[in-house]
Amino acid sequence: MSNELHIGGFVPLSTIDYPDALAAVIFCQGCSWRCRYCHNPELLSATEPSKFQWSEILNFLKKRQGLLDAVVFSGGEPTLQKALLPAIKQVQNLGFKIGMHTAGSNPNYLQQILPYIDWIGFDIKAIETDYSSITGNSNSGKTAWDSAIQVIASKIQYEIRITVHPDLMSPQELVIVIKKLEQLGTQNIVLQPCRTNTILDPTLHNALIDLKPYQDILNTYGIQIHIRQ
Ligand code: SF4
Repeated sequence: MSNELHIGGFVPLSTIDYPDALAAVIFCQGCSWRCRYCHNPELLSATEPSKFQWSEILNFLKKRQGLLDAVVFSGGEPTLQKALLPAIKQVQNLGFKIGMHTAGSNPNYLQQILPYIDWIGFDIKAIETDYSSITGNSNSGKTAWDSAIQVIASKIQYEIRITVHPDLMSPQELVIVIKKLEQLGTQNIVLQPCRTNTILDPTLHNALIDLKPYQDILNTYGIQIHIRQ
C-alpha cells in the first residue's frame, strides 16, 4: 500500500522543515485546492506520474538511520493519499521522527494519522468564510478549521502558520484570524510572508511582501507571535 504513495519531490537533507532536527522531506503529489499564492504549482496535479518509487525512498532512509533525525511528509497535500499512513508507519519503524506539513483538507484522515505524528506544520489561510476566495474550494474553510481544532487539541507539537499576501489578507483580517486561533488555545503561531517568486495566480502582485503594516497592528493589539521573514 505504501508503495502507492505518489511522490512529486524529495529533499534528502533539510535543516528548516522540522524544528531543531535534520530531516529528509518527501513532497506528496496532488492537492484538491488551488490557493492563489501556492508556490508549488507543479505539485498540485494528482495525475502526474510519481517521480520516485517508494522503495527508493525507503532504501535511502535505511542508509541514513542515525544520521537524520526526522522525515517530513509535505506537499501538495499529504493527507489526500491513502498510502500516507502505511508509509508513515514504515518510516517510524526505521526510528525517524515524523513531521507533516498540511493545510488540513482531509480532517477525517488527519484524525487517523495524528497519533503517528511527532510534529506538524499547519497552514491557516483565513477565517472560515474567507477561505474559498483563496483556495477556490467552497468547503475548504470548514475542513481546514475542523482539522486545526484537532491539531490544537492534540498532544503533539505543532506550529500554526499564517502566510500573508496583502491582496488576500489585510492587517485587520489577520488580527481576527489570530484572535480566533487564540480562543481555541493555540500556543504557537508563526506569521510568514508569501513567497512571490513562484505563484499560481499571476494576477497577484509579485513584489516582496512587507510585513511591517501587519507587525504594527499586532503591536497595537498587544499580540505577540513569531514572525518569520
Ligand atoms: S493547500 Fe498548499 S499545496 Fe494546496 S494549493 Fe494551497 S498552498 Fe498549494
